[in-house]
Amino acid sequence: MDRTALTALLSEWGEPAYRARQAVQAQRAGADGWSEVGTLPAALRTRLEQALPFWALTPDARADSVDGTVKWRLRAADGVAVEAVLIAHAEGRRTVCVSSQAGCALGCRFCATGAMGAGRDLTPAEILDQAVLAAREADAQGARLTNVVYMGMGEPMQNLDAVLDSAAAINAPDGLGLSARRIAVSTVGWVPGIARLAEHPLPLRLAVSLHAADDETRSALMPINTRYPIASLLGACRRYCDTTGRRVFIEYVLLDGVNDSVADAKRLARLLRDGRFHVNVIEYNATEGPYRASPQSRREVFLHALAAAGMEASVRRSRGADVEAACGQLATRGRLG
Ligand code: SAH
Ligand code: SF4
Repeated sequence: MDRTALTALLSEWGEPAYRARQAVQAQRAGADGWSEVGTLPAALRTRLEQALPFWALTPDARADSVDGTVKWRLRAADGVAVEAVLIAHAEGRRTVCVSSQAGCALGCRFCATGAMGAGRDLTPAEILDQAVLAAREADAQGARLTNVVYMGMGEPMQNLDAVLDSAAAINAPDGLGLSARRIAVSTVGWVPGIARLAEHPLPLRLAVSLHAADDETRSALMPINTRYPIASLLGACRRYCDTTGRRVFIEYVLLDGVNDSVADAKRLARLLRDGRFHVNVIEYNATEGPYRASPQSRREVFLHALAAAGMEASVRRSRGADVEAACGQLATRGRLG
């Protein structure tokens, strides 16, 4: 729902501001159209019905994984499709992975969204709707939406205004009321965006997709590295950390025979072991490209080598692989096609 447009309409019509809150609450509670917002006067419901879409995105396909993960394909008014994934964890916690663009111009070689090429920026309402839909689904599962990650389709730093607007609404007490520390923005390493995020008042988490510990390997995987090589990227991360007092999460997808050797682990530890970083080692989900996930044995050796070199890391296991729901795999293909 476009909350800015809603607020503007209500004030233009001389309606009290709390009407917006009532609409938002009803949507969170399960309403699917203005006519279902029982707390609004009937005449206002009719007027809104003609003026403003209730949802900015509508689900047109859904796949449920055996592990509780749900993946939606959602359509915007202009027909553009994006995907959002609700990821199930233990103890009733749920994370939603939201898209910020309908495609991506940055062309990382291992990424299904990168293979689609550039798509348009999503609006704040389109991003927010993904989180609201996920919060409702989490409620329906008897669980709770606890985290939002901007790790779906697109590069959040290339649509940062909309990302920050939507994050503010997700954080707002009359929005989804999620702590900013539970909202993470993931970037390919867009240095100017990292600097902007450091200055932003909302204490959002920053995750950076590094995926290699030397420039040659990283440039082969991620064309952005020729513009912002590792030293400049980590420099921006260190400034972010020193400005905000918050650690930076480094994403490292293990690719078979590409970036998963003991030497890679040692180099990575040397780059990052100054206390400012936390490493998330991520299991790769194979796409149509040439890359494969590292076998489990190599992953373990890699983690040991990291730890021995003074760098602790956590492992992010793949979820929802049976519905091709992994972050970064959100192209409009697969079982929802
Ligand atoms: N554009 C941003 C956010 C979207 S991608 C970024 O690149 O960080 C979110 C994460 O998924 C990134 O770390 C990305 O490198 C990773 N990713 C992409 N494709 C993947 C795949 N097939 N398997 C696992 N992770 C993948
Ligand atoms: Fe874009 Fe991120 Fe995929 Fe790279 S990994 S192509 S930046 S969505």
